[in-house]
Amino acid sequence: RAHLTSPGGYRFYVEEMNTRALRVLAYENRLRKAILRKEFIPFFQPLIDVKTGEIAAMEALVRWRHPRLGLVWPGEFIPVAEEAGLIGDICHQVLYETCMTAKRWMEAGYGAIPMAVNISWRQFAQPERLLQLMSDVLKETGTPPELIELELTESSVMEEPDSAIRTLNDLREFGVMASIDDFGTGYSSLSYLKRLPISKLKIDRAFINEVTHNERDAAIVDAIIRLAQALGLKTVAEGIETQEQFEFLKEKGCDLGQGFLFSRPVPAEDMEKILQEGGFSDFRVLQ
Ligand code: C2E
Ligand code: MG
Ligand code: MG
Ligand code: MG
Repeated sequence: RAHLTSPGGYRFYVEEMNTRALRVLAYENRLRKAILRKEFIPFFQPLIDVKTGEIAAMEALVRWRHPRLGLVWPGEFIPVAEEAGLIGDICHQVLYETCMTAKRWMEAGYGAIPMAVNISWRQFAQPERLLQLMSDVLKETGTPPELIELELTESSVMEEPDSAIRTLNDLREFGVMASIDDFGTGYSSLSYLKRLPISKLKIDRAFINEVTHNERDAAIVDAIIRLAQALGLKTVAEGIETQEQFEFLKEKGCDLGQGFLFSRPVPAEDMEKILQEGGFSDFRVLQ
């Protein structure tokens, strides 16, 4: 920034901007190639029924399987993909693989396991495209829409709540339900929250992290669970890492739990082994 005030600084600044723009452009091109090569795959993390310890659902979390770099995490490429308008293409691959996996597991006799897929605010802002994508992939794969649930952040939904209610109603009519992800970290209008046709609130990991050490976090988690109960919604606690956190949530009446205590997100084949072994009813800690 100091360069801005020095002689010739303006030029330096422009060049720096160009370098950055070129870097972003190069990254976007790599993403485009990766889309063509179908390098985006879902990993799966189970949602556990807190009362029974059984697997109640799965969340699909995208990974970029790069031929040279190995696995690339969504935190790195999702923002670039959103900016470049490529998030829909990536979602298509994740949704397709998730549907095929759900079908395979159903045919293998593991039952109809509900699958949650994350949807970017960018996609939710274009409801026609989102609905088209959903209906295309469900038809293509022959998946019952009831098996797929969408995860949306508070801000995706609360940005334009009236339009969000319409979109969620359209999706519901179609057979697809939605949950609010990372609840408590964005802003929610309670008057809209009560009108949203959703099925679950997912309590953000930030509150679960210290829930057994921090009274305020404990109070917030307790309040979210009771709010959800009053609104007829199920609660999911994200990021459960310890037995103590799990016991706390169980005592407070949280419905579902997700976190490293049960399993990290793993490839479909690894999750299939867990299903073969009968899931988590013995609360076995993996990895
Ligand atoms: P999210 O949907 O809130 O997913 C939960 C994140 O927490 C995942 O990170 C998961 O690996 C991590 N996690 C789960 N349990 C624990 C735990 O016990 N401890 C800790 N420390 N972390 C835990 P991940 O896979 O890196 O995904 C990050 C975010 O990227 C997701 O947050 C979601 O917002 C986004 N994302 C993932 N897949 C997709 C996708 O297919 N499409 C879109 N648009 N976004 C996605
Ligand atoms: Mg999620
Ligand atoms: Mg979350
Ligand atoms: Mg998150």
